Amino acid sequence: MYIDIGANLAGRQFRHDWPKVVQQAQDHGVAQILITGTSVEASQAASGMALKHPGVLFSTSGIHPHGAKDCSPQALNTLREVAQAPHVVAIGECGLDFNRMFSPQKDQEAAFHAQLELAAELKLPVFLHERDAYPRFAEILAEWRPELPGAVVHCFTGEREALQHYLELDCHIGITGWVCDERRGSGLAELVPEIPDERLLIETDAPWLTPRTLKPRPKRNLPEFLPHIAERIAELRGQSLAHVARVSTQNAQALFSMPTAG
Ligand SMILES: [Zn+2]
Repeated sequence: MYIDIGANLAGRQFRHDWPKVVQQAQDHGVAQILITGTSVEASQAASGMALKHPGVLFSTSGIHPHGAKDCSPQALNTLREVAQAPHVVAIGECGLDFNRMFSPQKDQEAAFHAQLELAAELKLPVFLHERDAYPRFAEILAEWRPELPGAVVHCFTGEREALQHYLELDCHIGITGWVCDERRGSGLAELVPEIPDERLLIETDAPWLTPRTLKPRPKRNLPEFLPHIAERIAELRGQSLAHVARVSTQNAQALFSMPTAG
């Protein structure tokens, strides 16, 4: 079995058929899915979806760095309320994205600090997003890391120095179908074998980042493609697919205190 630790099922692209998407994922061995909360509204929606599929769907509560300017005190209060539900297992996604700069850097940093503080208060792990924001991201995370029960740098696409630094900060590393991209994924492919077994997590980031090795190429990425990504990871690491499935599942269940799928 597999656990997709990052799927944006609360997004517009899944509004009409998310229950079917979840069923198809389960049919492909993806037994549990963590739905990413990227805004107050998405975090509320994700929690509502998880409530309907106990033991299968879980969710996070957070504001993506793109929306950092919306991270008001009221928004943080709502994120805190959403995070009270037992199926909401992490704060995030939060972090820094200097690639597209949809929010100014100072707003991104303030929202990142505020959500790390919330996670520390609630004793929840954090689901982190970092794009082109190393080393500033690591500096801020390092301040809070001792107070956090766990952290995953989701969709890691950085350089070796960043990877080593995140591992030193005792972070888990989330690998997506980016690793299947023969052009921009080649640097990541080299680093995938350097992630220790006990730090590896796998995710689709659906509907984004459709693995380029899927033929024919689907219109949107789906959690059911996770085994395809795991196969590529296993090949790069020189491990069996069963091994990658087992360690990544154990890691996700331990980090997010998820029950074993029944
Ligand atoms: Zn992200």
